[in-house]
Amino acid sequence: MTRYSALGLILLLNLSGCTQAAQDVRETRFLLGTLVEFTIHTKNKQTALEAISKAAQVMRQVENAFTIYGDVDNTVKQFNQADVGQAVRLAPEVDKLLLQSINIHQQSDGAFDPTLGILNKLWGFSGEHPVRQPPTDSQIRHALAQSGAQHIQKTGQGWVKDVQGLALDFGAIAKGYAIDQGIQVFKQYGFTQAIINAGGDMRILGKHGDKPWRIAIRHPRGSQPLGWLRVEHDTSIVTSGDYERFYIYQGQRYHHILNPETGKPAKKSQSVTVIAPTATLADAWSTALFVLGSEQGLMMLKGQEKLDVLWVNADASLSQTHDFPIRDLAHKTE
Ligand code: ADP
Ligand code: MG
Repeated sequence: MTRYSALGLILLLNLSGCTQAAQDVRETRFLLGTLVEFTIHTKNKQTALEAISKAAQVMRQVENAFTIYGDVDNTVKQFNQADVGQAVRLAPEVDKLLLQSINIHQQSDGAFDPTLGILNKLWGFSGEHPVRQPPTDSQIRHALAQSGAQHIQKTGQGWVKDVQGLALDFGAIAKGYAIDQGIQVFKQYGFTQAIINAGGDMRILGKHGDKPWRIAIRHPRGSQPLGWLRVEHDTSIVTSGDYERFYIYQGQRYHHILNPETGKPAKKSQSVTVIAPTATLADAWSTALFVLGSEQGLMMLKGQEKLDVLWVNADASLSQTHDFPIRDLAHKTE
């Protein structure tokens, strides 16, 4: 008996000796044009740091495969430079995300369009030398003629376009896709409590210790949060806003989310937050639902249970799907 309890005591002492409390292991990297914060809640700091490095590396590869800016070569740029009728084989993950993008294009009545490369470059919000003045109507008409998902097709030899100059742009979905790939790495390492937050767009895993993660939703005009979410399990939260990349010209706000119908910044929303099972879906739909506005968007979402959505409308009023779990909502938007 005494021997057993002595053994038990040694075992207990040993266990408590090597058990550290779980902590937030946190690293920040500049990726996908934004600061990306990686957090893993764990007792195993060393492995967490390794997982974060690996996730950042995988996200850098995604960025390089999809970007239409900078010096890297990729299959998206090859397609963008190709002539009418010239088939281009896209890298497998690009091919797959383009098919998903076309699907969302159709489901969103064209509000999400992955072929706005020329138009986006004309407006110039994402380039290295941002433009501060809107293009002319004739420039917009010209760029619109080189846009539209109906102008691309997948053939046995690859993707082809039927208008000269048409360019793909995954700016509204690639960040979400990259977050999902980073989270896959965390899962492979066996981590169950984590967040990847790319400039306010995020996917979370599990809880923060024994409590839900507490996530602020940015107010599109104010400095205090619009409200808070308490989330747990595996879920993604993405916001598209007219405050992220914008300028004021002659008293009017011009921003980077374009209405594919007009070729101009979409006017119905200030911001849209989407909660979805993956960051890819949340990213694409936050852009689509921003363009559509709450009235059309809510009609489109009827019977769709996968997405929870909150709009700050152009007039600063709020609209939401009925399950949107916002708490501590600021009483009034400006
Ligand atoms: P952010 O990149 O700030 O998170 P979004 O996810 O809403 O914002 O993506 C905006 C980017 O997507 C733009 O910079 C542009 O590259 C592209 N884009 C703009 N309008 C559309 C649209 N209607 N459909 C698809 N992509 C768009
Ligand atoms: Mg988006």
